[in-house]
Amino acid sequence: MSIQRNPTRPVTIGSITIGDGNPIAVQSMTATKTQDVAATVEQAEALHERGAGVVRIAVDSKKDAEALAEIRKQTKANLAVDLQENFKLAELVAPHVDKIRYNPGHLYHHARETPWEEKVRYIIDLAGEHSCAVRIGVNCGSVDPAKKEKYASDDSITPMLESALEHCELVDSFGFHNFVVSLKDSDPSKVVEVNRRFAEQRPDVPLHLGVTEAGMPPEGIIKTRIAFEQLIGKGIGDTVRVSLTLPNPRKPEEIDAGREIVEDIYAGRVRSVVRFDDTKLNIISCPSCSRVENEAFVDLAANVKEMTEYAKEHAITIAVMGCRVNGPGETDDADLGLWCGPAKVNLKKGEEPLGAFGYDEILPKLKAELDALIAEKSGSTA
Ligand code: SF4
Repeated sequence: MSIQRNPTRPVTIGSITIGDGNPIAVQSMTATKTQDVAATVEQAEALHERGAGVVRIAVDSKKDAEALAEIRKQTKANLAVDLQENFKLAELVAPHVDKIRYNPGHLYHHARETPWEEKVRYIIDLAGEHSCAVRIGVNCGSVDPAKKEKYASDDSITPMLESALEHCELVDSFGFHNFVVSLKDSDPSKVVEVNRRFAEQRPDVPLHLGVTEAGMPPEGIIKTRIAFEQLIGKGIGDTVRVSLTLPNPRKPEEIDAGREIVEDIYAGRVRSVVRFDDTKLNIISCPSCSRVENEAFVDLAANVKEMTEYAKEHAITIAVMGCRVNGPGETDDADLGLWCGPAKVNLKKGEEPLGAFGYDEILPKLKAELDALIAEKSGSTA
């Protein structure tokens, strides 16, 4: 299949360059505890050997940053780190990585003390000094509330788009161009729409594609394939990640899945007949990473999938997330949400918290809420 790629500018990430017609790089992330240097190096190396263009590692503290310095010495993988609200960690991580990801939605916190523009400047200056690439990573679950308020509540796409465009303009104004953008949602149709609209307005900026919290295989791979076929097939996308919930110890399945999808699209083996059916039960779950608060998370996600099988004909979304960093926000849009703490799982109905329950209590609680929701949606009283 001949694909006319968008004329994006080149972005160098360690030993690879993406954009400007270069091959689409496939990425993944380690799920080990970052301070377990041996395990993280082993996973980073396994991903690198399988063909990962970039390997992301979670760093949330000074100790994680110290571990990162050691990991850097022991792997040839191109490393990326994502900054959460603690943007100052950029100073500790930049010397050891090839790419820094920041989420615009995390920079509006404490804006009175440090305006978000200053935080971006700080990150970009460090990235420039240490020859790092940057990813401006916009995520549906953590969009700046001021942007959300500007638009109707059923339009989740325009606030994401506006945020990405605003940050591109600012970063460009600093004279820094070694950056990519990602716009991720757990709904593949929204991923397609927001990336298409972005590519129309900024065809020069390379895009990192992904469906966030796609869940377990095979559904997670199918959702991702649907989005990638419609974007990469039209020349949009320079690097990809397939975010899958996988059992530990994690193998490089995300790399295999990403490469297969990209190869299929280029070979014309597209399966656009496969459509994500949003009239049925949709389980979304995060891919887990070093932030996961309890090792039981992956089993929990698998048990939720199995237990809710009886409700598969109902158009209900259940989100299962591994930690407090992204769990509370990224379950807001689901009908029922679970996010993990160290000893308890927090249950939500939409944005409303319903309490925290032990790992051995949560499934019956979820079932009771699901039954009530099914009854509510079918018009009868629970
Ligand atoms: Fe990692 Fe938490 Fe995101 Fe899951 S929700 S991938 S544990 S940061």
